[in-house]
Amino acid sequence: MADAETVPVARFPIEVYPWHAAVWSTLTGDFARLPHALLLQGPAGLGKQDFALRLATALLCAQPKAESACGQCHSCQLLAAGTHPDLKLVMPEEDRRGIVIDQIRGLGTYLALRPHTAARKVAILSPADSMNLNAANSLLKILEEPPLGSILLLVASQPARLPATIRSRCQRVLFQVPERGLAQSWLKGREGGEAAAQLLGEAGGTPLRALALSREDFLVKRETLLSDLERLLAGNEDPVTCAQRWKGLGASACIDWLTAFVAGLIRGLAVPGEPAPTLLKNTKNVLTLNKLYIYLDVVSSARNGLFSGGLDELLLLEDLLIRWCRMAERSPTIKTGT
Ligand SMILES: [Zn+2]
Repeated sequence: MADAETVPVARFPIEVYPWHAAVWSTLTGDFARLPHALLLQGPAGLGKQDFALRLATALLCAQPKAESACGQCHSCQLLAAGTHPDLKLVMPEEDRRGIVIDQIRGLGTYLALRPHTAARKVAILSPADSMNLNAANSLLKILEEPPLGSILLLVASQPARLPATIRSRCQRVLFQVPERGLAQSWLKGREGGEAAAQLLGEAGGTPLRALALSREDFLVKRETLLSDLERLLAGNEDPVTCAQRWKGLGASACIDWLTAFVAGLIRGLAVPGEPAPTLLKNTKNVLTLNKLYIYLDVVSSARNGLFSGGLDELLLLEDLLIRWCRMAERSPTIKTGT
C-alpha cells in the first residue's frame, strides 16, 4: 500500500520548463537504457524536483506519448491522485532538516518488492544532499546492489555534500542557469512583469527562485534590508533590533540574499566594468575587498549552519549584523617616517 504522504501528486498537463528541453531530450531518447540512479544537480530554483517528477510520470505511464506521460492511462490517474504504488518521494520529515537512515531503510524494503502496476519502481530523493552520513551509507548499499528495474532520482543543489561514493554510483545530470533572455520571457509570462530582470538578478538567474521572490514581494523586503545595512554601517541602527526585523522577514531568505549581496559587492570592487552597487557609492572607503572576503566566508558558513540545523536563527542574525557593523571600523593607521 502506498503511503499517500510520500507520493507526490502529478498535475496534468505537467508544466514543462523551456530550460529543461536539452536535458530532457538527452535523457528520454531510450528509457530502457537509463541507468538505475541519476543525480540531478544544479543551482536551486531551476525546477530539478519538477523535472524528476515529470521523468517519473513518463517512466510509469503505460502509454507515454513522445516520451511524456499521457495523463490518461490508469497509471497516470494514480499519479494525478498522488497514490501511485510504484512511485515514492523521500524527503525530510516535517520536524527534521534532513533525510534520515530509517527513511532509506524503508526505501530499501520498498524497492525490494516487485512493482504493483507499472513496469518499474521510481523513487525521488529530494533534497538528496540533506541526507546525514548514516542515511548516505544505507543508500550506498542500495546503489551497490540496485533492485532490478528500479530507478532512483536524486535531486541536489549542493551535490558536494553527498559522499563521493554516492556520486560516483549515479549518472550526473547537470542543470544550468538558463540564458537570461529565455528566463526573462518565461518570468514575464507569469508574475514577474516589468520587474523580471531585477528579480532574476536577485535570484542569480534562476527563474523559479525569481518567481518565488516575486510572490513573496521580495523587492519591497530588499529595500528594508538594504537600508538596514546602510544605517548599520553609519551607526544609525542597532544590530539587535535589526536582527529581530530580519527574522520576521525570514532568516533563511535574508541570509541567502545577504550572501548574494556581499558577493555582488565584491564583484563591484574587484571586477573592472562591473556596475558598483549603490551601497558602495554611499559608503566609500569603508568596505574593502579584504573585509568583504572575510565577511562572505562568515555569511556562507552561517548559511551552511542554518541548512544543517541546530542554530538559533535570531542569534545567528545578530552575530552577522554585529560583524557587519564592525566593518565600518577603520583599520588603525600606521604612521611612518616620523
Ligand atoms: Zn499515462
